[in-house]
Amino acid sequence: MALTPESEIRFLRGVGEQRMKKYQKLGVTTVEDLLRHAPRNYLDLRRPAAIREVPLGERGAVAAVLTQKQPERLLRKGLTVQHLTATDGRDTITLTFFNGKYTVLPLREGEEYLFYGRMEGSFTRREMNSPAIFPGETRGLFPIYPLTAGLTNKGVAKDVATALALLPQLPEPLPDWVRQEQQLATLDYALRTIHSPPSPEEAAIARRRLVFDELLALSISFARMKAGRRDLRVRPMEPVDLAPFFAALPFALTGAQERAIREAVADLCSGVPMNRLVQGDVGSGKTMVAAACCWFCWKNDRQSALMAPTEILAEQHFRGLSPLLEGLGMRLGLLTGSCTAKEKRLRKAALEAGELDLVIGTHALITGDTRFADLGLVVTDEQHRFGVAQRMTLSGKGEGSNVLVMSATPIPRTLALIIYGDLELSVIDELPPGRQKISTYYIGSDKRQRAFGYIRKHLDQGYQGYIVCPLVEEDPEGEDTARLKAAVTYMEELARGPFAGYRLGLLHGRMKGKEKDAAMAAFAAGEIQLLISTTVIEVGVDVPNAVIMMVENAERFGLSQLHQLRGRVGRGSAKSCCILLSDARGDNARERLRLMTTTGDGFQVAEYDLRTRGPGDFFGMRQHGLPQLQFADLATDSQVLRQTQQTAARLLAEDPALRFVPQLAKKVARMTEMVSGGI
Ligand code: ADP
Ligand code: MG
Repeated sequence: MALTPESEIRFLRGVGEQRMKKYQKLGVTTVEDLLRHAPRNYLDLRRPAAIREVPLGERGAVAAVLTQKQPERLLRKGLTVQHLTATDGRDTITLTFFNGKYTVLPLREGEEYLFYGRMEGSFTRREMNSPAIFPGETRGLFPIYPLTAGLTNKGVAKDVATALALLPQLPEPLPDWVRQEQQLATLDYALRTIHSPPSPEEAAIARRRLVFDELLALSISFARMKAGRRDLRVRPMEPVDLAPFFAALPFALTGAQERAIREAVADLCSGVPMNRLVQGDVGSGKTMVAAACCWFCWKNDRQSALMAPTEILAEQHFRGLSPLLEGLGMRLGLLTGSCTAKEKRLRKAALEAGELDLVIGTHALITGDTRFADLGLVVTDEQHRFGVAQRMTLSGKGEGSNVLVMSATPIPRTLALIIYGDLELSVIDELPPGRQKISTYYIGSDKRQRAFGYIRKHLDQGYQGYIVCPLVEEDPEGEDTARLKAAVTYMEELARGPFAGYRLGLLHGRMKGKEKDAAMAAFAAGEIQLLISTTVIEVGVDVPNAVIMMVENAERFGLSQLHQLRGRVGRGSAKSCCILLSDARGDNARERLRLMTTTGDGFQVAEYDLRTRGPGDFFGMRQHGLPQLQFADLATDSQVLRQTQQTAARLLAEDPALRFVPQLAKKVARMTEMVSGGI
């Protein structure tokens, strides 16, 4: 049977069932998947250098003849070390391998090799630790693939080469006019070149084609969703004087808050479904914008729903808004996962009967069977935690498709363009008066004890604080047991040692809703002085008396996430500070953390975060509810994105059903599924 792009890779020589299972963890099942499993980086082996030419501390490839293999030594159980010596005729270099038996075994003294790694040592003594090794005649760009357990880089490179050698020319899915207009390489060229490009220029040409394909599918998906919305109508609301609402507030709104409220209210009165994003840095007072809109709905005899990403936040909104809005006559209900079955039933019944004017809750709200008497508005807070999908589900409830989205993540324009597509934007670019800059410090763990002392000083003055420990990023709900234990043990250590005699509390994702709420309530009431927490406090938590925060292993967080975390302090008028603790060695990590100490501007942080994200790390994307993109990097590919948007419009105008581009149609269908289904 001839190999086609659709063939499963287990039919590929050297792969088989077992290996295919491993590949499937990377999303690779077919030969085409394998070809699209592009390198995340390349080692530049085009011009190997002499040993002394590679500057200390920098990475590079040197060509050298192996002169000596010293015997392997056992350092301790399970750890061996072995030193090799090589020379380029002028200088020698020492190569060190840990547990490198099988790497070293095939190397022969007297042979020339390329050694790629970071040059270390001193001016007179050059060393590399665990360099990558290639035959001496190797040249070009060598692919570095994203891997999973059981697959080696060399193994993947070999499988790709096998597949490419066997495959006939790949069919071209794009019409000629698109390729000509956009100056794109053929798919065949792109997929063959991306794996072992002769030069970075050719790699770029190949990559641009693959990025284009991906963003084109995304653009078409979004264009279709938008088109679906365009003809929608909703019952327009009547203008109502906002003065009574403003008068009930304990403070004067900022100009930016008021502007956002007026813009949103105008949407509600327009008859076209509101689809507005309110973007404002942490602490800018977005909640009041939401409250004003809900109040406006109520004056129009319509219900509203306020969704928060966590129970803690929903609780807090409920506690915070109840006095104000109930004082004005509204009836509020809370609907979260930790309500009892009976509470849920009663509140849902009340909603359906129109006996509640505003429901505040978590995902429980969108689990399908919640019905409203007359839903006029859906507000989602901290939108970056929701997928596009969830937004659509909720807005699809009955006629109430007015949607107000609030986000503290200052989403860079490139991203906003795609994610929110047809969203109107209100920016709250002004903080309530009296806020002070949060001083941010970046220290190593050698200064931990001093930091503890500094925290104690604040607690002694009657303030409160947080210590944040990282949790596994991949799965916010499934904190692994080991790490959880670490947080618990850590708190016990603090309670016995540096914080003996202080009132400490613990908050983490594995606690039951009720326990979390209790801990949070105790903290808000000042009963807990120092809250040891995982990132569940990240979003929106508001305790103005908390003025100091320390983040352990700060390098594990994205910068935007750190910025969010940091926003938990500095919410009152007292001087606040945030201590980032990290022993990370890499220049990148250090530079990132240093940036946090120099800026308090969430926009700047987000742009930087997006720019410096390691390749292949799409955590940021997932947070934004975007499908995982394989090739495109939205931070740097915005130009291609604009080009695909134009192409998408033309393609859809000429061939709305994409009948003449069946392969593209299939890709679009998959993309749409990812965008609107579970991401
Ligand atoms: P975020 O935009 O991060 O959601 P919040 O809505 O939680 O911010 O507001 C942060 C804090 O600022 C809250 O304690 C809120 O009561 C207060 N606040 C909001 N608007 C104003 C204002 N105009 N003047 C003074 N304080 C305000
Ligand atoms: Mg908020």
